[in-house]
Amino acid sequence: ILDINDLRTSFLLEDFEVKAVDGVSFKLPKGKTIGIVGESGSGKSITAMSILQLLEKPGKIVGGEINFKGKDLTKMSEREIRNIRGNEISMIFQEPMTSLNPVYTIGQQIRETLKVHQGLDKKVGTTKAIELLSLVGIPSPEQRVKQYPHELSGGMRQRVMIAMALACNPELLIADEPTTALDVTIQAQILELIKDLQKDLGMSVIMITHDMGVVAETCDYVAVMYGGKVVEFQDVKSIFKSPKHPYTVGLLNSIP
Ligand code: ATP
Ligand code: MG
Repeated sequence: ILDINDLRTSFLLEDFEVKAVDGVSFKLPKGKTIGIVGESGSGKSITAMSILQLLEKPGKIVGGEINFKGKDLTKMSEREIRNIRGNEISMIFQEPMTSLNPVYTIGQQIRETLKVHQGLDKKVGTTKAIELLSLVGIPSPEQRVKQYPHELSGGMRQRVMIAMALACNPELLIADEPTTALDVTIQAQILELIKDLQKDLGMSVIMITHDMGVVAETCDYVAVMYGGKVVEFQDVKSIFKSPKHPYTVGLLNSIP
């Protein structure tokens, strides 16, 4: 479903070029999950944002191809990208920056997403919104739909963001460390949820994480990033059996 070829993304700060992504290639077959691991600052989030072209202003894709279902996203117009974003590819952000709108209730926001992306009317939308909230582990969802974002805890807001991403019914879900801010039991539930959806809906997933346990449990493939490059790309079994890059070896040795 996705074939990324030598992607390069830079931040152009006056005459200085920060190469945030400097040669990323990997393939993701439909219905599979790829884990992207790598140390902090290695370019994982910028790779994800490049796919959806959500880079902040001085950021720019300077080379490479992002083929999604056979079409190169880097050559698409703003309008075509906007159409794909949300309809076909959803993202869960590391820091919810496209955060929830403070003036609408949780229910209104999920319902709007369901209306736009799945054409559901208000009544069906409300039922489905409650279902999604309960799916992501929000207690008493019938009451929660009437609440405003600031009335929820940070972890709950993150789960609402996941529910919103799922309401788009995406073919590809990009999850950027979706569970780091959550406590361990919720983390496990969310991962289980993403896994189930992937199985039931045939969704493809890019899972950015620095937890090799998460990789072992949820992923079919792994891309290891180091200094803006993908230094290793293997199926999960092989990477645990025979890691090639020194960073991967170190990473696996650090697992207790
Ligand atoms: P983490 O695990 O900490 O989330 P990451 O692998 O997601 O790290 P990225 O956020 O992709 O790292 O950042 C990659 C590089 O891009 C870093 O060196 C960072 O400083 C640089 N970068 C990110 N955003 C900007 C920006 N707006 N302007 C300049 N440089 C940036
Ligand atoms: Mg990141």
